[in-house]
Amino acid sequence: MMNPEELEVLERISGARDDRPSLERLFMTMAHFMALRSTCSRRSVGCLIVSEDDRHVLGMGYNGGASHQENGCERPKESGNCGCLHAEENAIINCYAPRSQPKKVFTTVFPCPQCAKRLVNLGGVVSLFYAQDYHTDAAINTLSRANIIIYQLHPLLFPKDFIEAKLNS
Ligand SMILES: [Zn+2]
Ligand SMILES: [Zn+2]
Repeated sequence: MMNPEELEVLERISGARDDRPSLERLFMTMAHFMALRSTCSRRSVGCLIVSEDDRHVLGMGYNGGASHQENGCERPKESGNCGCLHAEENAIINCYAPRSQPKKVFTTVFPCPQCAKRLVNLGGVVSLFYAQDYHTDAAINTLSRANIIIYQLHPLLFPKDFIEAKLNS
């Protein structure tokens, strides 16, 4: 489930902006909303794979167990190895695109070393956007060797009253 700090960030959802947000910023925000669906008790993570031209969402995922089966971690004490599929893993499983199609990946947390390898093997990933650091940055070398450009990007935050005004207008 979402930890208290992350919840607070989402609740602050925020600020009227005069300028338009970039598509990258919106995709990162969508990845954070996907994380709300997580069934992992250790950490909620969301991932979105989009076409390089920002026109198509190709796959998305969040961390958790097998579809329509019992929710929850198998080994709740083991960080990154609790038995839940990772958000990137599920996004890759759901990715509806050929290897050759250039892709951008948005993930709320920097990938673990195994998911970095999975993203390389997915094929076509040209850039990776992440919001929060992971406890190890071991994946950097794997991604860099595959010429995947790494960016840190935070989600857009809207104030609650801004959303309510939009929804009720
Ligand atoms: Zn878990
Ligand atoms: Zn992972």
